[in-house]
Amino acid sequence: MAGLFSGGSDGKKIFYKTDEEIEMMREANLVVSKTLAHVASILKPGITGQEIDKAAEEFIRDHHGRPAFKGYNGFPSSLCVSYNDIVVHGIPGNREFRDSDVVSVDCGVELNGFFGDAAFTFAMPEVDEPVMELLRVTYASLYKGIEQAVAGKRVGDISFAIQYYCEREHPYGIVRELVGHGIGRSLHEDPDVPNYGKRGKGPLMQSGLVIAIEPMVNLGAKEVYQSNDGWTIHTKDRKPSAHYEHSVAVRKGKADILSDHQYILDAIKNNPSVKEVSPKN
Ligand code: MG
Ligand code: MG
Repeated sequence: MAGLFSGGSDGKKIFYKTDEEIEMMREANLVVSKTLAHVASILKPGITGQEIDKAAEEFIRDHHGRPAFKGYNGFPSSLCVSYNDIVVHGIPGNREFRDSDVVSVDCGVELNGFFGDAAFTFAMPEVDEPVMELLRVTYASLYKGIEQAVAGKRVGDISFAIQYYCEREHPYGIVRELVGHGIGRSLHEDPDVPNYGKRGKGPLMQSGLVIAIEPMVNLGAKEVYQSNDGWTIHTKDRKPSAHYEHSVAVRKGKADILSDHQYILDAIKNNPSVKEVSPKN
């Protein structure tokens, strides 16, 4: 789940984690990753958001986790399921997915007092090439951001890397109103991690900071609106949007990615109803 841009955080309320706490967060993220892989294994045209949400909730509870989104500020479901022009925070519904849909699934789990958060945008079998390219670029931009999540750099270095890649090197629109975030004993902690910004600006990152990095990238313009359910974020131009997310621990030299998309990629490989997506080279 993305954070609402708070107007900029100064980093004063950052809670740094011990190595032991980071290992507990890895456990929570492992359940998140395996839940998303379970979703990847059952996703197909004809299934509904409600059906995958129910399966995910059962899977999370079977793995001794608590679905972190359910009840969060009144959110009604375990997953955010956001298809086509829905950017994020879609409430799973009873519409059957179609051959040409892209479906972003965002999952959060609380386990032993710590939170994990990750997301993946899936492509149904008939998604066309311009939208597949949006997915590959958005996915690659996540790793451009993660490359910057090292001790001694600033949050703006992550923001800039993602924005430059998506808006300068590619013709897409980065969502401004929603951002990545710190994560730990709460789902959303300081600092905000915007997907746009300036190099060398924002809070300094030190080893032990854990953040969710989650570019939300629109095929068309960056503008979005919230529907009157109080949650669902749509693109204003109704063009599709993509969203990939990892929870990562800032370290010296190289970030430690706590969520593991490999489980998802393996599940997609075994599901002919979902197209493979890999980060653009
Ligand atoms: Mg999320
Ligand atoms: Mg998040």
